[in-house]
Amino acid sequence: MEEEKKKSGKKELLTTLLLIALIILLIVGVNSIFGMLARRYPYLMQGDRSSSASQSAMAGESGSQSAASASGGSDGEEEAPRFCPSCGKELREGFQWGQFCPYCGEQVT
Ligand SMILES: [Zn+2]
Repeated sequence: MEEEKKKSGKKELLTTLLLIALIILLIVGVNSIFGMLARRYPYLMQGDRSSSASQSAMAGESGSQSAASASGGSDGEEEAPRFCPSCGKELREGFQWGQFCPYCGEQVT
């Protein structure tokens, strides 16, 4: 009887440890995924809480274009990219579309 109790107790402990390990793995996995996403798409993380707002802004681009041209001041030219779409790093001033990102080497198109 005593030994049986010990055995079952050991089994329970093992199950508990396994569960804890699984939970830790899950947390670490989710954290790393979010970290990767934040590094890859920093603009996504910035507007995470107001994703619906940014989506509506994208949909109504014609409406927000007047504001962009007012701040940019460039006449008809395509606005230079400010962030690399591949690695999300901020690009230096004067960076143009089609050039290669100095951080990850990807062509910015
Ligand atoms: Zn890059």
